[in-house]
Formats: sequence, C-alpha cells, structure tokens
Amino acid sequence: MAKITTKIDLYDKLLQKYKEIVLLNNISMLAYWDLETYIPSKGVEQRSEEVALLSGLLHERQTDPEIGQLLVEIKNHKEYSNLSEFEKRNLELIQRDYDQQTKVPKELVTALAKQTALAYETWKKAKEESNFGLFEPFLVEILDLVKQTANYIDPSKDSYDVLLDLNEPGFTREIIDKLFIELRDGLIPIIQACVKSPKQPDVSVLQRHCSESVQLNIATDIAKIIKYDLEAGRIDPTAHPFTTGFYDDVRVTVHYDENDFTNSLYGMLHEGGHGLYEQNLPRKYKYQPIGFYCSMGIHESQSRFIENIIGRSSEFWEFYLPKLKTLGKGIFDDLTLEPLVFALNEVKPSKIRIFADPVTYSMHIIVRYEIEKELFAGKITVADLPKVWNQKMKEYLGVTIENDAEGVLQDSHWAGGSFGYFPDYALGNIYDGQLLWKMEQDIPSWREEIKKGDLSKIVNWMITNVHQKGNLLQPLNLIKEITGQELSTKYYLDFIKKEYSKYFAL
Ligand code: ZN
Repeated sequence: MAKITTKIDLYDKLLQKYKEIVLLNNISMLAYWDLETYIPSKGVEQRSEEVALLSGLLHERQTDPEIGQLLVEIKNHKEYSNLSEFEKRNLELIQRDYDQQTKVPKELVTALAKQTALAYETWKKAKEESNFGLFEPFLVEILDLVKQTANYIDPSKDSYDVLLDLNEPGFTREIIDKLFIELRDGLIPIIQACVKSPKQPDVSVLQRHCSESVQLNIATDIAKIIKYDLEAGRIDPTAHPFTTGFYDDVRVTVHYDENDFTNSLYGMLHEGGHGLYEQNLPRKYKYQPIGFYCSMGIHESQSRFIENIIGRSSEFWEFYLPKLKTLGKGIFDDLTLEPLVFALNEVKPSKIRIFADPVTYSMHIIVRYEIEKELFAGKITVADLPKVWNQKMKEYLGVTIENDAEGVLQDSHWAGGSFGYFPDYALGNIYDGQLLWKMEQDIPSWREEIKKGDLSKIVNWMITNVHQKGNLLQPLNLIKEITGQELSTKYYLDFIKKEYSKYFAL
C-alpha cells in the first residue's frame, strides 16, 4: 500500500501545481475582461504592464521543470498502470501543455509576441487605409515565426497539421479536406437555390431604433430562457463580444447597437451558449485538465446551437415574439411571426465573415482554410494573398471584393499569429448537425419544447452529453461516443437543406 500512497502523492502534487496555473490564468483572464469592458481610458497602459507580468508568471509556472520531472516519475512508477483512465487522461493533457510550452525556445516565443504586437497595430492601419502592402512584410515575418514554432512542437509533422491539431486536437488536413469539400459541395447548391428563389425576406422589418436599456432587458430575459446562470455570470457591454471564465464565474459580453437589436440578441444567444458550456463542466474535475472544455470547435458548436438552431427557429419566435413585444414597450408591436422569422433567416452571400448569415458563413471559413493550407505548403506567397482571396470569394460566394479592407484584411487572426484556427468555426456547424441528429432521436418533441419556451430538456441533453464530458475525449471521439457515428457533414447539410427549404420554398 505504501507504494500506491507514493504514486498518489506525486499525482496530487502535480494536480496541485496545475491548479495554481489555472488560478493564475483566471486572474489574467479577469484582467483582460476588464480591459475589454470597464477600464478607464487612462488605465490601459498600467494594465498592459499588469498583464505582461501575469503572463510572465504564468509562463514560469507552465514551464516549471518540476512538472516535467513529476510527469516522468509518475510514468515510470510501478503503479502507473493502476491509474484510472481519467488520471491518465489528465497526465496526457498536462504533458501536452508542458511540451507545447517548453519545446519552443524562449527567444522564439518573445520574437513572435513582439512581432504580433507590431503587426496588430500595422494591420489596423493597413485596414483603415485598405493597403495590404503595409501589412505584408509583417505577415511574412509572422508566418516564418509560426512555421518555426510548429516545427519545434513536432518536427516530424507538417507544420500546418501541427497547428490544426493544436486548435482542434486530432484533426489534420486530410480530415478537414474531406469534410470541407463535402460541406462546400453541399452548401453551394443550397445557397444558389436560396438566392435565386423568387421568395425573398423583407429584412427592413428588423430595422428600428431600440435603446440599450431595452436591449439589456431582452438579453437578460434570453439568458434566463437558455438557462445561463446569472448568479454565476454577468452580461456586460463591449465592442467585440466574447465569453470568459469557467464554472462559477462565467462572463459574457455583448455589443449594443441601437439601430440593430439583433446584434445583441444573437450575441447573447451565441455567447450564452459558450457560457452555458463553461458553467456546466464536470465539477468534480474542476481545476483538472479533464474539467475543461473539449476544444474550441466543440465550444463553437455550443454557441451556434443556441444561436442558430434554437434562436433562428420559427418555434423559438412563436414563443418569444410576444415576450419581445412586451419588453420592447411598443417598439416591436407591428412585427408578425412569419416575416420576422424569414428576415432572421435571410441567405445572402456577403464579403464580411462576421456579418455572414449561418448558411454562407461556412464558405467564408473554407476560403480561409484553403488559403492557409496553400500558404503553408508554399504554393502561394504572402504577396499573392489579396489576389487569391478575391478570386476565391468570387468563386465560392460570387462577391466582388473591391479593396483589401473588405477582403484579405478584414480579420485580425493572422496579425495575431493565429493560423489553423478558422476551421473551428465551421467544425462547430458540422458538430451541431450531428448533435441535433442524435438529440432529435432522444427528444423527438424538441421543437415543441422550444415552442413552449421550455429549453430544459434540450439544455440538459447538452449538459449530459457534451458539457459534463469536459475534456475526457478528443472532439472526434466525443462526437463518436455521443452519436455512435463518425463525424460527417451529412447531418448538418440535411438540417440546413430542410430548414431553408421551408423559408425559401425550395
Ligand atoms: Zn463563438
């Protein structure tokens, strides 16, 4: 028994170290939340010193050689094989983080941090002036540093595959290629049919002035309906909505546009979906790696499920329109169900990803994925980006990009050194289709439940099947375990086809 005690001691010691990293990270996230919400303008510089110190401390903890030693000692221990699969998964995840943090030389980490800070400022200016040339030399440098980083993490693998795996564990170009080709080929005819349909929505019904205070009341009401716990969370205003925190302190932010109430309404549904996931993670594993979310793609599936599958359904609006009218105190009195739902489900190829409708959205992602892949394979250079971007947008979405600001410069991800991240957004959609397919079998009355305004069965299904699994499994395995099927685009495409055929009379 003494030996087992030794094993437990080492394991517990390692988990204690991990918990301190998590706590420190939470403080850092809170400092960022404040920076994006309430910090007085003069406080920004002070805060940048604070977060720099925190990230340094965090890095020290994450690369603490004792973590490496403990991992080796535990793995070489006689009792290692007696550890449970949960304990082994924790060790695997700690090892993964540790390798990621320690394999890359410090000089490279610093160089990338410096370069992305410079590039971000330059990207903003280049976008303002719609001048890709200004940003180009910075992006060349970033791309080189990111490739080097990927190479240090795993020299045996293709660097873009390394990045894909970092963002969505288990994924490679091969897997994503197959999914995205199916997705692209399935979506194009649906988009074309919607666009060509003589039946088109009148989106002017959405245009009306709605004060921030009314929108806050709506967001708060929505939070209650989707079961986002306001005693373990907050809703605050920001320019670019995001969600931060976990378990008992999960904060969502929304953007209030007085001329577009749908911005905060769908922002709340989306961020609320992220928030629900974080609030309902498996409490017994809190502060352990397996007590975290599975992946960013699965996270996106949770936000998009609430935002699009529930929040754009006619059943939701059958229930919610009367409530909206009450909360709007006259602003929404002229709205009627069918034209409203149709307007909320408009399909219109557009130039800007963040404003894209749910159907054309994935095409924006496929364009970015294909470009990133070609860039890493050396098939195109940074200088080719505007031309390739514009060609692909024309080919896939039929839109003509007039300048770099509305084209290749629209997103900040590359300026931040983030490559291989975009696919997660579209994977979220694909996951959703398959989760819904299974949920429909378990809760055949799901649409009726929404109509009643009672989301408890649906939310509980997500909690049991997704949230409570934390990070026990990689995304592909999680989907397989929940649905019994390999990940496939067919469920999502079937859903989209059926749903939009109703609106556009296809
Ligand atoms: Zn999101």
